Amino acid sequence: NAKQRGKACFVRYADGMKEPVLAHMQLGGELRRALENDEFRVVYQPIMRLDGTRMIGVEALIRWHHPARGEVGPAEFIPAAESTGLIVPLGRFVLRETCRQAAAWLAEFGPDALEEAGLNVSARQLHDPDFVADVAGALADSGLPCERLVLEVTESAVLRGQQVSRALFELDRMGIRLALDDFGTGESSLSLLRAFPAAIIKLDKSFVDGIEIDDGRPADARQAVARAVSQLARALGLDTVAEGVESAEQAAVLRDLGYTVGQGFHLAEPMTADGVSSLLARQRSATPAGSRAPLNRP
Ligand code: C2E
Ligand code: MG
Ligand code: MG
Ligand code: MG
Repeated sequence: NAKQRGKACFVRYADGMKEPVLAHMQLGGELRRALENDEFRVVYQPIMRLDGTRMIGVEALIRWHHPARGEVGPAEFIPAAESTGLIVPLGRFVLRETCRQAAAWLAEFGPDALEEAGLNVSARQLHDPDFVADVAGALADSGLPCERLVLEVTESAVLRGQQVSRALFELDRMGIRLALDDFGTGESSLSLLRAFPAAIIKLDKSFVDGIEIDDGRPADARQAVARAVSQLARALGLDTVAEGVESAEQAAVLRDLGYTVGQGFHLAEPMTADGVSSLLARQRSATPAGSRAPLNRP
């Protein structure tokens, strides 16, 4: 019965767990039902050149359309999905949906439309022995070229030992690009860059918040960190994305600090797939063939 199952899961996941386990188990039951009822949707946030001239990619973000509560954001259910293991089928849904949608955009708008489609991957998924095969299957079924897929992982997820490390190196060998998400918020960002085959660094929003404020101090810490990260990325041959860009002033400062690409409400908010299609259509008519800006970051 449910109580016994709950206990078994408690034993299995209690190790190192700080969240209220029983609440998670309850929410886990709801999430399982929601998955069966097809209540999850994927929205896409454009990743843009900081000068606003074009979209270079998207990040897929999950939403739960709860029949009574309306739209629920991932912060409210991802932790429970992780601790109950439901993140595995949920993540598989996001993976397959994103690959399918990105391949459809490339088919409709051409190979220059979209350099990359990214999605978030939890540590729990990287631990799943079937994960690499799931990714290969999603790419094969959708026809999305592997180099267009970006898997975003956080530093804490990467620091989870052998199995995770094996999976990441295998994905890298397959030609899939890995992004270090929320970069700078973990405890060993720098040593990770040596040990992990990252292609992209996503500078965390906390370094972008307030970056435009000149408080008269000679070395504002946020600007110093942001500049150091962009220089480090360049030295290592990695691409960068500045996260949480909320104003034109922030975008301008980030460009001065060496960033060319960003993501944030100032550039574009998360939107439905149809919203992205309209953006791609507008972008296509704004840049006649032959006069396109280079797709790759300079
Ligand atoms: P993240 O991967 O760092 O995604 C960026 C989050 O920042 C998104 O929140 C996005 O809506 C928000 N954001 C973007 N630009 C701005 C801005 O200018 N200002 C502010 N204040 N926020 C901005 P969201 O969609 O609520 O997702 C939150 C987190 O949930 C994500 O952070 C990611 O860690 C996780 N997540 C989302 N979808 C998935 C998923 O499919 N699987 C997994 N495992 N985690 C997911
Ligand atoms: Mg992310
Ligand atoms: Mg992020
Ligand atoms: Mg973040």
